[in-house]
Amino acid sequence: MNSPIEKYLHQLHAEIAELREGQPYAVAPKGRRVDPEDFGICLATVDGYVYEVGTTSKEFSMQSLSKPFSYGLALEEHGLETVDAKVDVEPSGDSFTEISLAPKTGRPANAMINAGALAVASLIKGAGGKTAINRIADFYSGFTDRQLASHRGVYTAERRNSDHNHALAYLMSSFGLLESPPTTALETYLRQCAVQITCRDLSLMAATLANSGTNPVTGHEALGVEAVERVLSVMMTSGMYDNAGDWVASVGMPAKSGVGGGTLAVLPGQAGLAVFSPPLDVHGTSVRGEATCRRMSADMEMHFVRSA
Ligand code: GLN
Repeated sequence: MNSPIEKYLHQLHAEIAELREGQPYAVAPKGRRVDPEDFGICLATVDGYVYEVGTTSKEFSMQSLSKPFSYGLALEEHGLETVDAKVDVEPSGDSFTEISLAPKTGRPANAMINAGALAVASLIKGAGGKTAINRIADFYSGFTDRQLASHRGVYTAERRNSDHNHALAYLMSSFGLLESPPTTALETYLRQCAVQITCRDLSLMAATLANSGTNPVTGHEALGVEAVERVLSVMMTSGMYDNAGDWVASVGMPAKSGVGGGTLAVLPGQAGLAVFSPPLDVHGTSVRGEATCRRMSADMEMHFVRSA
């Protein structure tokens, strides 16, 4: 621990570890225990350096962290126009379960809420001998430096608790909005939520977005610049759901949370930040994840206005 950044991260980690509020997400397969004490912070720079502290190599479910990446895949495959016809780019200002669909078309407000993510999932199909989820896992892997996979048990547990998502999928299907049967879109979405990542993976994924879509460690071009720009824009306005306005004002970085306890934030052109800590606030955002992003934004001048 010799660099000033490492020293800073260790100090910050120790301070934020004192926060004890929040409850971990309750849906999990039998025998898979969530440890509320797990807490990791990783900062990955666009030149490929990763600073780590705490629980940075333990796997957890991506959950809603998958949404911006699947959105990126759909944009890359189908182009902006086709995807925009299915999913709008307006902040909904509501929770991720919100039924925020346009009156006549059923078009969801954005790709970060569940309705939008389900519409995006319906656009991603199996191809070249690969199933949709294998293609998705391969695509996500391009943002980190190892092969990622979806966890079957997590998927099954999610599926048993997915009445609301079922309803959303069927409702959108009734508008003719989905590009697949509703159950197929639901399966793809829930399997992508069950993709397992570590805090280190998440920081590389964020750093790849910060680096205009090119993975700073492997050099792989994970996503085109146009799609990156779109993904980050929608993350900025809608990534934090009903907390998005406050988040932009105080943190000022495009970000995304997931109920698995992961939080990612992107400082374009510079770095990706990832936090893993399972206890969640009422918005479904990690308490320590949010506190870490707030503190780092202030201490390291990461807010988009100050960092410009
Ligand atoms: N699987 C969860 C759901 O669809 C993901 C939600 C989240 O991480 N915010 O309800």
